[in-house]
Amino acid sequence: MQRYQWGALSADARAQALRRPAQETRQATADAVAAILAEVRADGDAALRRFGQRFDGVALESFAVGQAEFEAADAALSAQLRAAIDEAARRIERFHAAGMTPAYALDTAEGVRCERVLRPIPRVGLYVPAGSAPLPSTALMLGVPARLAGCREVVLCTPPRKDGSADPAVLYAARRCGIGKVYKVGGAQAIAAMAFGSDSIGKCDKLFGPGNAYVTEAKRQVALLEGGAAIDMPAGPSEVLVIADAGARADFVAADLLSQAEHGADSQVILLSDDAALLDAVDVELERQLARLSRADTARAALAKSRSIQVDSIASAMQVSNRYAPEHLILALRDARAWLAQVEAAGSVFLGDWAPEALGDYCSGTNHVLPTSGAARYAGGLNVASFQVAITVQEVQPRGLQEIGPCAVVLAQAEGLDAHREAVALRLAALAADAAVP
Ligand code: NAD
Repeated sequence: MQRYQWGALSADARAQALRRPAQETRQATADAVAAILAEVRADGDAALRRFGQRFDGVALESFAVGQAEFEAADAALSAQLRAAIDEAARRIERFHAAGMTPAYALDTAEGVRCERVLRPIPRVGLYVPAGSAPLPSTALMLGVPARLAGCREVVLCTPPRKDGSADPAVLYAARRCGIGKVYKVGGAQAIAAMAFGSDSIGKCDKLFGPGNAYVTEAKRQVALLEGGAAIDMPAGPSEVLVIADAGARADFVAADLLSQAEHGADSQVILLSDDAALLDAVDVELERQLARLSRADTARAALAKSRSIQVDSIASAMQVSNRYAPEHLILALRDARAWLAQVEAAGSVFLGDWAPEALGDYCSGTNHVLPTSGAARYAGGLNVASFQVAITVQEVQPRGLQEIGPCAVVLAQAEGLDAHREAVALRLAALAADAAVP
């Protein structure tokens, strides 16, 4: 990891230190993705087959997972893994059900009832990454809230393995969430298929899920295209920012940094501390732990672009963190709970030494689909409301129209919208006429 002294950096150097690695290849990625989207839009399944061959090494005749493959997947998993998926699903369900947006209604004036009702988004498309590692946990993070919201049609796309099958654990997790439509298509082409529809994949209203830079860019582009789909958020290459004080355990901190770095070469990890000795100890630990990781090469590539920053104080670290707006924020601090109030921008926060990010990734109950690239400044992680639309309703009695109608007439007049004024004034006049009848 590159080491910086925050206090000694110029404004430009500070901006550079907090730059995301994916930003450097953004234009090339955008061009490649635009070409993929156009091809899938024009050629449908035939284009999906070509991209499957090129990027996943397999051209499938049929993308849909059939009953036999679902059953084979269940049988292929150990009882222990099935139980772990079920256990995680239960906790995710509990947390998400408790956080569901309630419908509500109140009278804003006598005879004027205003309400908010919630409806599921009818057709949603879920993307479960499987490029460098299949992520059954992501199938739960997407599938559980989609089910709680009551979405009518849920489609899930995930890249095929080299032998043309889907990852069995992803399939088990999908079925655990009641998802029966799973397609073995990955990358930007999967996003295109769900956004525009293809011969075999139905067009979706909104797309969800994390992915690599191609997937994230594809989501961004389809959201801007006419006839494209809405998206949940930019949930791209993963990031963690750890703030550690002198009392933090270097081995724990290093393990947390590595658990993020092993996701992909474009993952980013940032460590902030006011204690130089801790930063040194973490460097040593990183080397020691890297030696026993199966994905050490990936982690090393990510660490090469990652930062270890010495700050003057923990308060200063909090400011840097808010500016960076990390997807995951670990507060390896003695009084972590007290510092929570200072957090203004972060996807998910892990308090203290005993809350590694890995628990949030899998089974604490919170969602691991979180905003990256600084989007945590204005967006939160996935939740049930992401799969719903909130519809407002107003029911007005004659007494209510008399109560608030004059206000609307004055505002319509001020805006020069005569038809608006008439729509209210006509009714007020009708009520006045009725009242005049003896
Ligand atoms: P992925 O499924 O996102 O991507 C694999 C697909 O990328 C392949 O199927 C292929 O079609 C496409 N692809 C590969 N090389 C390409 C190229 N040169 N041009 C065009 N398309 C290409 O799986 P992954 O690569 O393992 O990435 C998963 C990502 O998801 C990681 O970056 C991880 O950090 C991220 N993630 C983010 C969150 C979050 O909430 N933000 C959560 C989990 C994972």
